[in-house]
Amino acid sequence: MPISETFKTRLYPQLDRIAKHFGTPFHIYDEAGLRATGQALKDAFAGAEGFREFFAVKALPNPFILTIMREMGFGFDCSSIPELMLARNAHVAPTDIMFTSNNTSEADFLAAAAHGGCILNLDDISLIGKVPLMPELICFRYNPGAKRSGNAIIGKPEEAKYGVSDGQIADAYRKAQERGAKRFGLHSMLASNELDYRYIVETARMLLDLCRRLELELNIRMEFVNIGGGLGIPYRPEDAPLDLPAMGREVCRLLEDFKKAYGYVPRLFTESGRYMSGPHGVLVTRVINRKDIYRTHIGVDSSMAALMRPAIYGAYHHIEAPGCEDRPLELVDVVGPLCENNDKFAIQRQLPHLEGGELLVIQDTGAHGHAMGFNYNGRLRPQELLLRTDSSVERIRRAENVTDYFATLIFEPDTLAAG
Ligand SMILES: *Cc1c(COP(=O)(O)O)cnc(C)c1O
Repeated sequence: MPISETFKTRLYPQLDRIAKHFGTPFHIYDEAGLRATGQALKDAFAGAEGFREFFAVKALPNPFILTIMREMGFGFDCSSIPELMLARNAHVAPTDIMFTSNNTSEADFLAAAAHGGCILNLDDISLIGKVPLMPELICFRYNPGAKRSGNAIIGKPEEAKYGVSDGQIADAYRKAQERGAKRFGLHSMLASNELDYRYIVETARMLLDLCRRLELELNIRMEFVNIGGGLGIPYRPEDAPLDLPAMGREVCRLLEDFKKAYGYVPRLFTESGRYMSGPHGVLVTRVINRKDIYRTHIGVDSSMAALMRPAIYGAYHHIEAPGCEDRPLELVDVVGPLCENNDKFAIQRQLPHLEGGELLVIQDTGAHGHAMGFNYNGRLRPQELLLRTDSSVERIRRAENVTDYFATLIFEPDTLAAG
């Protein structure tokens, strides 16, 4: 999807200047766009009492971004200790943090309980006995199994590693009650990059039905239902965007019906990552080589270390070459320098003729972009910049350097003699 006009009109005219000042490559994020999407999400669910978005930290784990999210009134969804640290450093209250880990370790539980705790979202019935101190408020992640069909990225619920099974869910709450839990929430996340809003509405319906079933069976009332993240964004120009207002209307109607029928209604939580930040970031990289062999390869100064999605999911990221729009189009692969043949940002893509020196804008990198980067082949992750609402540009993370790369080779020698 071509990035929003507002991002483009504020970014493209000063792209050369920004690249000259900061150097390439970089991810750059659009504060105005982040705030606009945050507001759209709040508007869509304005009819849901106590609605709250818990931004999925893993999508864009940068303190400057988390501050913007906090300013919009959002909490955070975390699944690791460093993510908890990031959320806590954003100065939010314990109830503003959900901890949704999977295959949770004892260290994870201890970190989740520290500093006043957080909303603990348990992923399995066996973990109830392993929580060092059962909090008063507990949530479970539900996996409906064969009751729901899957989504392309996460796959069938039955095959997924997440969540408590349908047959175990009532027992899970019962056991948590026995260990002292008194307040309850219910969570599910079944989709990823889902563009059909009706799938998410079905998740809300499924969770509300389950609330009712659990109330009848155990006499407990859910304080909230968390319908997860997984809202999709249109990566391809031909993709239709998710109909957020329709989704909001239909979910709010389900909540109203629930309230009419039972006299109370759980709060609605979401934990979107991609939808919140994905479209509001781009990776800017410079063409450094052109290679004409059997195919034309456009070599750029970044690699899958900066953006893994094309390599690991075959994901499409739209690419533009600002200022080159008038040149003839040709079919090329856009490649990085790794010794991995899948180190490509685009395969057989029509782009304007590129010679070297041009800037490419690889779009929709604001979620699961920089954060997914890695250091294979000694490749280092790039800097991150923030385009402020006043159009100033601020560095919000420096690029990795070789000292960072070698940091783990500085350690206390330790040898266990042969036994
Ligand atoms: C990854 C994740 C999210 C965010 O997913 P998006 O597709 O980015 O919206 C939310 N909740 C949980 C538990 C996750 O693992």
